[in-house]
Amino acid sequence: MDDERSEGSAWSGSEVDGDDWMEQVRGFGELEEVPDSDSDYEYRILPTLTVEAPPENPEPSDPHEQTFDPNLPMQHAYLGNDLTILHGRTLLDEDEVAHWMPLLPQIDVVLVPGQTLPLSVFHLPTIQMINRVLEGNRIFATVCMLRQNTLSDYTYADVGTTAEIYEVQEGGNNHSMRIKAIGRQRFKLLEAKEQSGGRLPTARIKILPEISLSNPMAEMSFTGLNRYWSKTSNESETVKKIRKLRSNVSAISAIPSWVYDQYDVDRLVKRMLCVLSSHKAVSQIPTDPVELSFWVARSLPLPDSKRLIPLRMNCAIQRLRWELSTLEEFSHLCCRHCYQTIANHGDVFSMSAEGLQGTYCNLYGYVYETITIYKATGLQLQNVPPSTNASWFPGYAWTVAACSRCRKHMGWKFTAVEPEVKPREFWGLCRRSLTTKKVGSFKLQC
Ligand SMILES: [Zn+2]
Repeated sequence: MDDERSEGSAWSGSEVDGDDWMEQVRGFGELEEVPDSDSDYEYRILPTLTVEAPPENPEPSDPHEQTFDPNLPMQHAYLGNDLTILHGRTLLDEDEVAHWMPLLPQIDVVLVPGQTLPLSVFHLPTIQMINRVLEGNRIFATVCMLRQNTLSDYTYADVGTTAEIYEVQEGGNNHSMRIKAIGRQRFKLLEAKEQSGGRLPTARIKILPEISLSNPMAEMSFTGLNRYWSKTSNESETVKKIRKLRSNVSAISAIPSWVYDQYDVDRLVKRMLCVLSSHKAVSQIPTDPVELSFWVARSLPLPDSKRLIPLRMNCAIQRLRWELSTLEEFSHLCCRHCYQTIANHGDVFSMSAEGLQGTYCNLYGYVYETITIYKATGLQLQNVPPSTNASWFPGYAWTVAACSRCRKHMGWKFTAVEPEVKPREFWGLCRRSLTTKKVGSFKLQC
């Protein structure tokens, strides 16, 4: 799938080798920034992009009537049907041992465990790295490159996630390669060693542990209360027993029961599921605390610096608590460049079984973390017919969308081309193009 045709790409179907890989990474996917004398917010995408107002159809289709199969986007069929499935799974030790492995830095992508990373690669050193990895455990390290003061100035994030390749293009060659990988384990980046000759850096990493905390009340070990911990087949009876336990423990300790509730993982999971149920057309949400905490982490439309916070947390309870507090803080999604309001947070919905956000790559190899939104404002469309070429959502045509105020690229409008498919239209917006505007805090009613 094309992104902004006007952006162009240094990687468009061409082989890149020999040059410094970092320069190649920096060389594509960026919009040209042109400060204007009248406003700090004036940019241009490039002269060839013309935009028009959205068509006269302001009433979006009801997302609850969704008939689209959410498993289709997860297949990433736009990468082709000649990929081979690789079986098996490797988990690295969580102990103090440091691991050396190839590092594939990513711009605008913070990989979270469980997140799919589709790649279409034209960069020869990256292809060579992938081929080496395929001969071993199929794992490489990914870390986000954080922008500093200028567009060309990046530093590595201190935490990242390992990626395991699970599908690869058959007969890959030195000209291009397509793979699908999935985020596996979080790690702390101890050291990144740059390589000569344009090769990818290598990283020394330490796998971060995943700590499961038991119920804080059980930790108090009041022998007389042990009988309350055994769950029964009757859920209401179990709830009554737990309530009785909370009451008894709080009566004999200085800590009130609501404090225990803050660290009760079962309660946190129920609260989160209740909050997510208010979103339109969300399906297949995991109930395991660890999986749920990562599902939410990759669904929240947050900037890179905030998305890294749950990656540093070693416990699902910590992550769920932080995510619930974050959900109480914001409600509007805005253009990252001019802060024009684009959508309400409640209009985010799931078009993929992977969650509220999916990761896709275009034909030029650029990777986009894309949030699907039911309705949006402040966007303008590229003045060309919608295209189905390499669409990330089979059965939908895409049109490039830009912010109507600053004209920065924001994402795409997807319009159904097959009859009976619902929703008839929706927006896929890039996480990198969005930020959140706090319009007040509120207390979650869950
Ligand atoms: Zn804007």
